[in-house]
Amino acid sequence: MKTITLIPGDGIGPEIIEAVKFVFNEMGAPVKWEEYPAGETALKETSELIPSALLASIQRNKVALKGPITTPVGKGFRSINVTLRQMFDLYANVRPCKSTPGLNSKFDNVDLVIFRENTEGLYAGLNYYDERLEIADSVSRITKKGCMRIVRAAFEYAKQRGRKLVTVVHKANILKQSGALMLQAAETISKEYPGIEWNDKIIDNMAMQLVLRPEQFDVIVTSNLFGDILSDLCAGLVGGLGVVAGANIGDDIAIFEAVHGTAPDIAGKGIANPTAILRSSVMMLEHIGEESLAKTLSAAIDRTLAKKELCTADLGGKASTMEFARNVIKQM
Ligand code: NAD
Repeated sequence: MKTITLIPGDGIGPEIIEAVKFVFNEMGAPVKWEEYPAGETALKETSELIPSALLASIQRNKVALKGPITTPVGKGFRSINVTLRQMFDLYANVRPCKSTPGLNSKFDNVDLVIFRENTEGLYAGLNYYDERLEIADSVSRITKKGCMRIVRAAFEYAKQRGRKLVTVVHKANILKQSGALMLQAAETISKEYPGIEWNDKIIDNMAMQLVLRPEQFDVIVTSNLFGDILSDLCAGLVGGLGVVAGANIGDDIAIFEAVHGTAPDIAGKGIANPTAILRSSVMMLEHIGEESLAKTLSAAIDRTLAKKELCTADLGGKASTMEFARNVIKQM
């Protein structure tokens, strides 16, 4: 039995996490949950935004599953999501985007994986406001070590999964120093992976290429902000935010979570799509060595998505979050 830290989060978080708990229970997954609040919920309950008991639990278990957490816009506390990623040095944000047969989306041939650098860049926390001069600075800090390890993670993933091409996405024409660091890392590391091709694209062109011909991409590696934006763009290519999973992976610890946020517009209605968090759970099962359960769950999710009537409203169906979860179990 593996103990996993569970953070339900805010908004639709508790609803979709409930669906995961139900599915894991029905499947008989050998997993025991250790549940903690974080963010606003935790502040109310424990007077800490990130309770120390939660941090100790992640440190002990090394694996966590997390619902989305609210970040106040333009004011208030710093993102709990970004803080957790930096605290545990979860430098690789891995986000697979694949077309699902039968699922209504603009393309049926997308199969790519984004490797987003998860600890540096414009998310490094170097934000200043000079009240006297009325100037705001947000500094993008990129390190050679940070570039080397995310690029290596992308090439290693390509090798392990039999993928053929790594595309480095940057803005080195304007952000010359930081862009050059990522490109130099790819020059160096690609030599260790002779079977894998690599190329590079400037971010603006990349956005257009993805919308026109997404099938030309395989593994994409990029900086924190570009990766954040491209992930939502790619989610839009394969059925929307409700279906795209993610993992935050470091050398020691991993936290699995959907790409989407707290979806305040639909929170509390019981209609959120749990696919993204269920697919994140599939990645988690693979990570803890439960490959066979991961395959079973993944196939059942795909079979459910293939029938519109079994799906939630964002995919054109009428199922509630928990009905979707029950449909997944029926498809096993
Ligand atoms: P969002 O991802 O929450 O929602 C964007 C749109 O997608 C909304 O219309 C929403 O209803 C829809 N959507 C998202 N997930 C869905 C699902 N599972 N099923 C059906 N529809 C879904 O993005 P936002 O509105 O920009 O952000 C809301 C909050 O979430 C903000 O506080 C933001 O900081 C936070 N956020 C957290 C994380 C995280 O915890 N990792 C990630 C992104 C955003």
